Amino acid sequence: MLTGEGARRLKGQGAALPYALSQGELEAIAAGVRAGGFDPELMSPEPLPPEALNPARRQYQSTHIMRHARRRLEERNLLGARMLVLTDADIYEPGLTFTGGMAELGGKVALVAVARLQSGDRSRFVSRTVKEGLHELGHVLGLEHCRDPRCVMLLSRSLADSDLKEGRFCPKCRVVIGRAIR
Ligand SMILES: [Zn+2]
Ligand SMILES: [Zn+2]
Repeated sequence: MLTGEGARRLKGQGAALPYALSQGELEAIAAGVRAGGFDPELMSPEPLPPEALNPARRQYQSTHIMRHARRRLEERNLLGARMLVLTDADIYEPGLTFTGGMAELGGKVALVAVARLQSGDRSRFVSRTVKEGLHELGHVLGLEHCRDPRCVMLLSRSLADSDLKEGRFCPKCRVVIGRAIR
């Protein structure tokens, strides 16, 4: 099952500008994901699969990107691993204008489009990306949305919501994560 609430959540933010993540930002994001309870390993950047591009929309379709990521995990024999894909491209799902994040509920791959998380404040941008990443990874590990206002699994309806919640799982969600990772 795929979740795409990011689209509804971030609607009205205007057009996304491409954003090239720096190595420093990637490392800061990885550190945040680690603080959230995971053990991330950075992979080298690579181009998006050409079949994902919709030239008429000048956007990439998220499901193609996720299929590509799943293939990467299989090719590398990383069968027990999950992948968080960060893309600077503008992505969409059929039927939606654009999407900010997506996850296979109980699956392998999470996807976050960082272009719409941009902020003039670099640490805010990193923190948003970490929260979106942890949120989508939470779905991958089987978590649904949480009502704890500080929990990263709270459904944020705007970037302001996202800025208010904390970049970690509440104790209840952490129990589920712990079980899924083991
Ligand atoms: Zn969600
Ligand atoms: Zn929670």
